[in-house]
Amino acid sequence: MRNLLPATEENVRRAAEILRRGGLVAFPTETVYGLGANALDPRAVARIYEVKGRPSFDPLIVHVASREDVHRLVESLPPEAEALMSEFWPGPLTLVLPKSDAVPPITTAGLPTVAVRMPSHPVALRLISLAGVPVAAPSANPFGYVSPTSARQVAETLGDRVDVILDAGRTSIGVESTIVALRGDDAFLLRPGGLPAEEVERVLGRPLKLPSESDVMAPGMLKRHYAPRTRVIIVNSWEEYYRLRAMYGRVLLLLPRPLHGVEGDVRFLSERGDMGEVAANLFGALYEADREGYEVIAVMPVPEVGLGRAIMNRLRKASAPR
Ligand code: AMP
Ligand code: MG
Repeated sequence: MRNLLPATEENVRRAAEILRRGGLVAFPTETVYGLGANALDPRAVARIYEVKGRPSFDPLIVHVASREDVHRLVESLPPEAEALMSEFWPGPLTLVLPKSDAVPPITTAGLPTVAVRMPSHPVALRLISLAGVPVAAPSANPFGYVSPTSARQVAETLGDRVDVILDAGRTSIGVESTIVALRGDDAFLLRPGGLPAEEVERVLGRPLKLPSESDVMAPGMLKRHYAPRTRVIIVNSWEEYYRLRAMYGRVLLLLPRPLHGVEGDVRFLSERGDMGEVAANLFGALYEADREGYEVIAVMPVPEVGLGRAIMNRLRKASAPR
């Protein structure tokens, strides 16, 4: 793969130049690999939608390299946004704020708001600051498929439709950012993610609201997403698991922690039952299971607190009917 390059300073410089010229660069963040383009260049952003096969109603997250970079993207910055930014940036928290005229409609799918985030991965930060432009970047995978946590996964699924893929090994968080929308006096959790919602609530001093199903506030939040081709089934009991094993030929069981004496092909997502590790290993495990030709991926649920909320959100979407 000629476009797959180690994320050395020289290659990051080349990639930044490509971004400036309207090209597409896949790059590591601490959450997952992103597929980036200059967020202020409508033609460059259009290529993201094209390469991913992403529907045009699904807005992108704009990545910045410093807190100051946000000012030109938003119309106003509420005090609560500033508080969250100073507490959690750089990091896996995306804020949805009223957009400025500098952001073209294609980047926000026509919405009056823009989603912004400052990633903490040093390669992402270096790339964005060398490019000198904000970088719109969804996950670097075909739309609806498992998000990439390694550069190889990007290369295998998007191939040479991307100008450069910067390789910096596996991502540390492994699930996408937490998305919070601040609107008037309300704060909404649009997507649970790599920053536990409880941490956001601690800084805000009140609980986050959930948008209603009919709310247009969270477009692109489709029922089925993050899904491998292999069927994913959440199993709530051992009876269910053994029933699946009787029904299907090849079943892979994913467990959050080691448990011995279970029949069949089993993979532990963490050696210590640590939810951070489970999140970091989840997408990679789904992706590998797909390649290994299993008929069913069975997964045991985890408690829905902290990162467990993001993990179960991804699993429910991956297991939703086609
Ligand atoms: P990702 O799939 O990680 O690229 O995240 C993009 C998601 O962020 C979209 O599918 C939306 O759900 C959400 N998002 C992005 N921009 C906005 C916005 N302006 N308002 C609400 N949600 C947004
Ligand atoms: Mg995605």
